[in-house]
Amino acid sequence: MNYDCIVIGAGNAGLVSALTLQKQGKKVLVLESGKVPGGVATSFKRGVFEFEASLHELYGYGNVTNKGEIFQLFERLGISSKVNMKELDESFHVIFKDSKEEYTMPTGIDNFIQKMEEYVPGSQDAMVTFFGLCEDIKDAFLYLGEQKESFDLNDFYQKYPNFVQVAPCSVKTVLEAIQMPRKAIQILSTYWITVGSPITDLSFLHYSMMIDSYIKYKPSIPFLTSHELSLILENEFRSNGGTIKYFHKVNEIFVENNQVTGVQVGDTIYSSSHVIANLSPITVYGNMIKKESIPKEALKLNNKRTLGQKAISVYLGLNKTSSELGLTHYSYYIYNSFDSEKEMKNMDHILNGNLIATVINNGVKIASPEGTTILKLTGMFYGDEMDKNVTSENYFEFKEHIGEKFISYFEEATGIQIKEFIEEIEVATPVTYARYTGHPDGVMFGFQAKGYDNFLSRYAAYEEESFIKGLHFCGGFGSRLSGYSATYLNGEEVALKVSKEC
Ligand SMILES: Cc1cc2nc3c(=O)[nH]c(=O)nc-3n(C[C@H](O)[C@H](O)[C@H](O)COP(=O)(O)OP(=O)(O)OC[C@H]3O[C@@H](n4cnc5c(N)ncnc54)[C@H](O)[C@@H]3O)c2cc1C
Repeated sequence: MNYDCIVIGAGNAGLVSALTLQKQGKKVLVLESGKVPGGVATSFKRGVFEFEASLHELYGYGNVTNKGEIFQLFERLGISSKVNMKELDESFHVIFKDSKEEYTMPTGIDNFIQKMEEYVPGSQDAMVTFFGLCEDIKDAFLYLGEQKESFDLNDFYQKYPNFVQVAPCSVKTVLEAIQMPRKAIQILSTYWITVGSPITDLSFLHYSMMIDSYIKYKPSIPFLTSHELSLILENEFRSNGGTIKYFHKVNEIFVENNQVTGVQVGDTIYSSSHVIANLSPITVYGNMIKKESIPKEALKLNNKRTLGQKAISVYLGLNKTSSELGLTHYSYYIYNSFDSEKEMKNMDHILNGNLIATVINNGVKIASPEGTTILKLTGMFYGDEMDKNVTSENYFEFKEHIGEKFISYFEEATGIQIKEFIEEIEVATPVTYARYTGHPDGVMFGFQAKGYDNFLSRYAAYEEESFIKGLHFCGGFGSRLSGYSATYLNGEEVALKVSKEC
């Protein structure tokens, strides 16, 4: 059977791509190696607890009266009325261990500015300028997205001078240029670790769009874990006649005369001249296409980019409520210090002392049975420390050691004792994530965004980086980079491009 498009992988972006193409009247086949949709957007059970596998919080959702980009996307996909999201009232609680400082930031732009002024008197004007810039950037980006081939660069420069000025700059450069006090810069930069680049190297454009969406529309989580979102997307696709095949691992993508012709699963060949891979280009060019069919530029680009951060997550089911335990926040960002460059260097080690902790029940009270709490601790790192030191013989010992350390980090930073209340514990490492996604090194995010190789340049270079006709990439390794919202939006963007071709 011939399909208009084959989507390899039913992660966030793959599902949205498939559904978008279907809404455009295209015949789409999704091939997924696992047995459930969503990739890492899923959940798993241990004892009485159902743990969220990945999502800590999603940006850009909002609600029916304040619709963020993702709400609008879900409307276009026909699923917004089926999705049940919980908005969080707190942006984050950040702890800097070395200076023993803690800050709790609310959601809503006015509240955020006001709170920052309380913590850092004199920061208000710069914060107002910051959010103004965020708006300018978003408008400019939307405008760019709407432009066709006849795009007039001079006209754009005149319309969006702020965008042009800040787009090539780092977070630190712009925040200093608008004279934001140092402490306010440090607090505002709390999310840097989720992108995995220090503020000296992190694109202002990317960071500002992300943080503006978090604060303006409030961070959100689904009531029934991210698996609910994945099932809704999958169900919408299937109930409208779409075909999704599980346990179908694509082992080869066929290319003839630089044009995709189909894919192979086991002995079965599926034909199509359009393939969207919800995978990393490293996997695709490294293992799935015959060497002689791979353009040199594709390999060069693969070699040029650096893989993003890896993660170890410790999932804890506790036999007390969050208030009994004294856990008052939803997300705790725990850093050794304010200095993102120094902490970035520390990330060469697995046990680097920095941690993101999420108390799921402080978002959705019923996330676990009455009288219990789910706490997730995630540490991120770069480098090969794990490859060098962990073997199949000591893997479980390693997980136990990391679990103990992360719990100690959390207890020491917050002063809250959790060890004695643990009923269930699971530890996921890059080995786990590699097994579920097939991503190289089991990275949690795609390629690292650093310096000029960031969201904007990858977005602008999309066509240039399409080396084989009919072969497209979506997802965390795609042009919008990693994260729930980014991968959903990227899934749609890529599908709309493909839809014009087929
Ligand atoms: C621990 C953790 C915490 C995170 N927390 C957050 C957060 O709080 N907020 C946020 O925004 N983002 C977060 N993220 C990032 C976010 O989860 C990812 O960016 C996003 O889910 C990736 O989606 P994707 O579309 O790239 O698909 P993936 O989830 O990477 O899925 C790829 C799919 O392809 C399938 N596949 C692979 N190879 C093949 C093959 N050969 N044939 C067929 N199918 C194949 C896999 O089985 C999988 O289903 C987190 C990630 C992790 C790991």
